[in-house]
Amino acid sequence: DLILSFESSCDETSVAVIENGDTILSNIVATQIKSHQRFGGVVPEVASRHHIEQITGCIKDALKQAKVSYDDLTAVAVTYGPGLVGALLIGVTAAKAVAWAHHLPLIPVNHLAGHIYAAHLVEPIEFPAMALVVSGGHTELVYMPEENKFEIIGETRDDAAGEAYDKIGRVLGINYPAGKPVDEMAHRGHNTFDFPRAMDTDDNFDFSFSGLKSAFINTVHHADQIHEELNKADLAASFQQAVVDVLSDKTVRALHEYPVKQLILAGGVAANRGLRDRLTADMEQFPNTKLELVPLSLCGDNAAMIGAAGEMLYQHGVRADATLNADPGLEFDWIKEPVK
Ligand code: ATP
Ligand code: MG
Ligand code: FE
Repeated sequence: DLILSFESSCDETSVAVIENGDTILSNIVATQIKSHQRFGGVVPEVASRHHIEQITGCIKDALKQAKVSYDDLTAVAVTYGPGLVGALLIGVTAAKAVAWAHHLPLIPVNHLAGHIYAAHLVEPIEFPAMALVVSGGHTELVYMPEENKFEIIGETRDDAAGEAYDKIGRVLGINYPAGKPVDEMAHRGHNTFDFPRAMDTDDNFDFSFSGLKSAFINTVHHADQIHEELNKADLAASFQQAVVDVLSDKTVRALHEYPVKQLILAGGVAANRGLRDRLTADMEQFPNTKLELVPLSLCGDNAAMIGAAGEMLYQHGVRADATLNADPGLEFDWIKEPVK
């Protein structure tokens, strides 16, 4: 099978061609980060405009690089949620147009299922599996008893992990998106500040990062007021340690309750070096569970992962028609009952 896939949920316009759900023939990603940086975050109207400008070129490049034509395609897959509604609409509209014009089946894909299926592009996912999805808008532990079944067993009650990185980054004077620079800064510092680890010992799989974010901001502001100079690298290291502690502790607890063959670390924050190292070490206590760290190049938003999830859904008979709409608040559990 050859799937042409679309991703436009946030600030990356991406089109890919995926063969049999596991081979990337092309994966064109046009990022808009520069246009949003001066605003300190993604501006929805600006994002939509960029998607419109970029998408046709991305389709052409994806087909050309994959050396395929529309006639070779089996189906079209597209992210229809969650994300920014105006941004999602561009991808959904483009995908519908291509599907309609070339008489191809249309497959609706949940963006988070896409993040998880990035792992499938490296090695087939083995079930039961668990995924820790950490991104700009989400922090979720997803249990997958079998293919095409996704159960959220834990999620953040407030800020997402990536969102916390971006917000504390701003206080450190770092441009959006701050995750990677803060990660790098953390590796030059030491864990000297005692930041809170919310819900770490609670008997559930949920997360909370807003208290940590506030504690960080208060510490910096208080130091400013008394004209005290704090070591930024130490601040970053202490923040990162708190995030990584909670994420890995909760994941380990989840794995004790839900024994799985595979643990997948996915989403933009999965690129975090501290988190990758810590999970790698922690997983030694689970010799029967394979750890799959999504490769750095596929952690951020891209259409390849949407194509991988799209092929799986295609095999399960999931289809959309021309009435498909963007669903900005799409819940993850939808996949339990395939849409008809
Ligand atoms: P969602 O997937 O929840 O809809 P999104 O698509 O905007 O949100 P992604 O593109 O998956 O999010 O991830 C972007 C986030 O990842 C940003 O918040 C960014 O700061 C963060 N990030 C990227 N690299 C790192 C890193 N090395 N360490 C920590 N965070 C990182
Ligand atoms: Mg992004
Ligand atoms: Fe994402």
